[in-house]
Amino acid sequence: MPYVPVSPGIRPDLLHSAEDRWRAIVETRPDLAPAIELQRGLLTLVLDLSGALEQGRMPRLSLPPKYLAAKLARGVPVIAGEPIPLPVPTLTPPLLQMCETLATGGAGEAATHIREALAGGAIEPGSLLTASLTRDQNVIRSGAFHRGLSPDLLWLVGELAVSPFVHLLQRTLFANASGELAAALDQWHRGYCPACGSWPAVAEVVGGHRTLRCSFCSSAWERTAYSCIYCDETGDKFVTAAPDPERKDRRIEVCANCSGYLKAIDLRELSPFPLLSITDIETTDLDMAAMEHGYGRPAMKDMKALRKG
Ligand SMILES: [Zn+2]
Ligand SMILES: [Zn+2]
Repeated sequence: MPYVPVSPGIRPDLLHSAEDRWRAIVETRPDLAPAIELQRGLLTLVLDLSGALEQGRMPRLSLPPKYLAAKLARGVPVIAGEPIPLPVPTLTPPLLQMCETLATGGAGEAATHIREALAGGAIEPGSLLTASLTRDQNVIRSGAFHRGLSPDLLWLVGELAVSPFVHLLQRTLFANASGELAAALDQWHRGYCPACGSWPAVAEVVGGHRTLRCSFCSSAWERTAYSCIYCDETGDKFVTAAPDPERKDRRIEVCANCSGYLKAIDLRELSPFPLLSITDIETTDLDMAAMEHGYGRPAMKDMKALRKG
């Protein structure tokens, strides 16, 4: 059952559960307090935007389930290459606020410069948001480069502002899938997201089910094979290890074939959107351990190449 529906939480519960998880992190890792403060600010903006989008109307899309099923069968994520209209006027104010939150939360002038570029029209918010939705790293990198902005930060703010929309979009497309589309989702065994094509942020393991969670749209899917999610390696080169022997519930899957790694963490339940970012921050020590040993996360799949097959 590869695509796993995750029920959307309701705001007070989400905030409550977020606060509990943040408190627990700071108790063991007081050094992460500033990062969590920043995450609290950003996550609140994401939640507010998410609420606004849920009340609005999603764009009408002519994406017949049969067509989407055929794309999935070719290994192409359903959103890739589709001209999906974004609600730019709704997304732009939170986009600017996210820059401000980042500026005061540690990113400083680099974030202020991005806010100025967006507010002053040097970067059109709609272009940034569209490039983020279509996962076009090249456009965002070159846009940042030409304007002397931080490419990573520009990528991050675009991603944060689009994430509630893309999450809602994948739920709209997948949550009630039936017939051919449900069957195609069932057959999805790739390491990248069936909705948007991003790599997972982490594997959340609940009741023995290793569920990959998309770093962008929070889709949840389970692969049948236990192999490297990036290159399908199953042999000796693919190893799962717990860096802290006392904490076998927190592991990294590392692959000597492609040098990729994935964090895997046991949880009681899958994180509802947008709480997946907390799982990510809870496990930053695993990222450090993997990177210290020379493993990394590969670049985004090139959606254009995927579509051509
Ligand atoms: Zn995704
Ligand atoms: Zn690999």
